[in-house]
Order: sequence, then C-alpha cells, then structure tokens
Amino acid sequence: MKVKAWGVGGSIPAPSSEQENYDRSVRLLERFVLDIRKTAMFATTVERGKKEDLETFIQTYLQTLSPAFVSGYPRDTTCIEIQAKDTPLIILDAGSGIRRLSQDLTKRTKLNPLNTKPEYDNQIQLFISHTHWDHIQGFPFFAQAFNPNLKIHFYAMQNPTKKLETVLAGQQQSPYFPVEWQHLPCEKEFTELTPYNRKTIDVGNVKVSWIPTDHPGGALGYRFETKGKAVAIATDHEHRDIEHPGLVNLAKDADVFFYDSQYLPVEYKGGNKNTPAGPVPRLGWGHSTYEWAIKQAEASLEAGTKQEMTLVLVHHEPARNDFQLEQLLEQAIGYAALNNVGTDKQMKIELARPEQTYTFEE
Ligand SMILES: [Zn+2]
Ligand SMILES: [Zn+2]
Repeated sequence: MKVKAWGVGGSIPAPSSEQENYDRSVRLLERFVLDIRKTAMFATTVERGKKEDLETFIQTYLQTLSPAFVSGYPRDTTCIEIQAKDTPLIILDAGSGIRRLSQDLTKRTKLNPLNTKPEYDNQIQLFISHTHWDHIQGFPFFAQAFNPNLKIHFYAMQNPTKKLETVLAGQQQSPYFPVEWQHLPCEKEFTELTPYNRKTIDVGNVKVSWIPTDHPGGALGYRFETKGKAVAIATDHEHRDIEHPGLVNLAKDADVFFYDSQYLPVEYKGGNKNTPAGPVPRLGWGHSTYEWAIKQAEASLEAGTKQEMTLVLVHHEPARNDFQLEQLLEQAIGYAALNNVGTDKQMKIELARPEQTYTFEE
C-alpha cells in the first residue's frame, strides 16, 4: 500500500506571500554564509570552478536544511491518494490538492500502478470527509472527471436535507463555475454513509471504515486497511476533554495517523497578536491542537499491538508560515518527550507535506 499526500492545508489554499518568499531567501542565504564559514570545502569547490561540483555541493548542502528554508510547505487543501494492490485508485477528499494529483494521473499509464485487474483500471473511489469547501473545491479542476470512460464513485456522510450529488453539483452551478456538474462526462455513483449503516466497505483489497468526528455540520474520519497495514485520517476534528473513543479505535494499530493539528494550544484558548491564528479563541471551530494529536495517537498506540506509529500533523492553519509550522512541530516533539510519549512504543511525529509518500509492504 502506498499513501501519498497532495494537499494538507486547512480551511483555504494559502500560498506564501511575496514577503514570505523573500524572507525565506534571506534566511537561506544567512544560514548558508554562516555555515560555509565552518567549512573549507566550499572554497575548494569554487576555486576548482567546475559547475557540476558546485551543483553537487549545493544539493548536498540543501539536504541538510529543513523544508522551511528550501521549499516551504505548499498549502493546497486536503487530498490524499491511496494505492493498494489489485484495487481501484482511492482518493480521500477533493481539496485544491486534487489538481496536482490530477496532473500526475494524466502522466501515468495506470491510475493505480499497483493494480493488475482490468476492471479497476477505469474507476476511482473518492471518499469525502465532509463537504466544506476546502475538501471539495478542487473537484471542478479534476481533469479525469472529463473522461467519459471513467467512473467516479463518491462516498460522503449523509446530509439530512440534501442529496450528496446535489451538494457536489452546487459548487459548479452557474454563475460560480463555467462547467456545470451535469456536463461532466464521467460516470458517477454515490454512496451516502451514516454512522449507523454498514461500518465497513470493501474496495478491492482495502477495507474502509469510518466514524463521525466533532466538526460543525459533521465530518467523517476514515481508516483504509489492507493485509495488516492501515492508515487512519481525521483531518477535521475538535478534541474534547477526553480522547475520542471512536478515533482511538479508528487509529488502533494504524501505521500512519493523520490528525487535525490546526492550532497551538494557546491559539485554541485564545492567543494574542503574535500567535499566527490571532487572539480570537477557536473553541467550537471544529479543529484540534498538536497536544491532542499526541494524546489521541498515544491512546490508539496503547490500545493496539503494534510497536510503532507515525503521527502526521495535518490541516495546517493558513496563517502559519513555514518557519512557524516547523516551530509547531518542535513544540509537539517537546510535548511528547515531556510526557514520556513513545517510551514503551515508538511514535514518530511529522508535519504533513505534499508529495510525502508512505509505503508499506503488503
Ligand atoms: Zn477542513
Ligand atoms: Zn470543515
């Protein structure tokens, strides 16, 4: 199984500003100048004057720096791809990240390179956490929807008043978008999920299960599992005073757990003008903190039999710049160490990054 993130930002696509890109260049050059003073290697490389040597030197040097200095963290909204052996391509959410996935799919000979069954080659199974705009806004730019030979099967939580198709078609209604939903030539199928109907669906070799999370209007967390390997994804969830029992189960024995870490604990309670999310308390906004990401992941890790889990902090606050994101990760790792998380069992904590891939042997 292969899990690849294409969009990991929260709430709205948030490209870096010109000032942020400029600041990154300044920090990178400062750091470079400080670092080369410590090494004679650069001077020797430059004196020799060979372009290839210089390129290798620079590439090797850049690898020693974190993404905030080098590339930043592209901030498209949620889209995660799941490939499994002999299974249709699975996608979680159609945030703006799905546009990049779409570009990649057009270059592939098969939608899911791990599939060998011809009947799955022309279908996509799209699971939607919820239909807030940041989780569906990329769909109108999903080029594969214009292929009449492709079937897209949509899954999302049942809405009490509107059919799933009506909700998805809404964002393409005139005058919001030039191509209306009914003019998309792909074949479409819909399954509305409730917490009370079937709790699992088999898609090829993947068992999909879901639970409702705490989010305004409701949302689903999903688990995708095949041959003992599992990924759990809860992009939009607001923690309460205790670990969410459904989520503990959802991520039990998961190898990778994506969990909503939009806020710093101080921002959640009400930060100040120096905290990126600002001074307004975020209680009831439907998102969580890195502290609760760790508590929730720890509870799942303890409940299961596996010895390790990778916790991926996701749904990044759009106001947080790349360096502030890495500070959040540092604080999270510090919090985990202070609370002896990962002493009995190992928990690796990472920031979600587009194009980050997790591969599991089946
Ligand atoms: Zn969201
Ligand atoms: Zn939402």
